[in-house]
Amino acid sequence: MKILISNDDGVLAPGLASLYAAMADLGDVTVVAPDSPQSAAGHSITIRGPLSVRKVHVEGPRDFHAVSVDGRPADCVRLAIFELLDGPPDLVLSGINAGANVGIHVFYSGTVAAAAEGAMFRIPAVAFSAEVADGEVDFPRAATYCRGVLEAILADGLGPGDLVNVNVPSFSRGAPKGVKVTHQSTVELRDVYRKMHTEGDRDIYEIVDFSFDTGDPDSDVASLAAGFVTVTPLHVDMTHHPSLGRLSGVRWPEQQEG
Ligand code: MN
Repeated sequence: MKILISNDDGVLAPGLASLYAAMADLGDVTVVAPDSPQSAAGHSITIRGPLSVRKVHVEGPRDFHAVSVDGRPADCVRLAIFELLDGPPDLVLSGINAGANVGIHVFYSGTVAAAAEGAMFRIPAVAFSAEVADGEVDFPRAATYCRGVLEAILADGLGPGDLVNVNVPSFSRGAPKGVKVTHQSTVELRDVYRKMHTEGDRDIYEIVDFSFDTGDPDSDVASLAAGFVTVTPLHVDMTHHPSLGRLSGVRWPEQQEG
């Protein structure tokens, strides 16, 4: 099995090293990751200017060689699929992100975007994130849960373009209570922007806090907070299928030109 691993915390992130160590024996693994932290890069790609690519040696629980790209997570996966790999991989893995990617954060997450990029090319993909508590993540321990979940997912069978978002709760509350298949919460982010100071004619704002309510008790946010490993199937098709019929019946304006 040819596996591509990427992330959004950068090629030297400990979560990436732990994911590599946990998955290395599953197949022929290539790591292509951003050269700098790209959290909240979402699905952005680099269209102006070049992408510089170099090989790096990464030390971790199991040392490896990686390809470092001065771009976004989605750049890494696209470049790997189009150029760097010898044909498309059978599986794309992303993470392990330092911080949960649940709820509406899924839209901003570079970790999920890297996996989604694989799914867009009909390659099965799984994103892994670990909840941070007091600034700490036990990545090697989180990686054992990621491995277990991936084995179960692979045993069940991943189809072309399947995209799964996995989050591991912090161990500060003890071992996870189990694995829960959940849906994404869509409760909005409660960003707090604060005007920090003024520089000449510019007002400088910063996000000083971002949080969200847990939403309904079955959501990914609530399930992770309750101490479960969450497994959420996602899909790239953002179409709201139930609305297709209704909108198709709308009386649209006649096209008039000239
Ligand atoms: Mn990140």
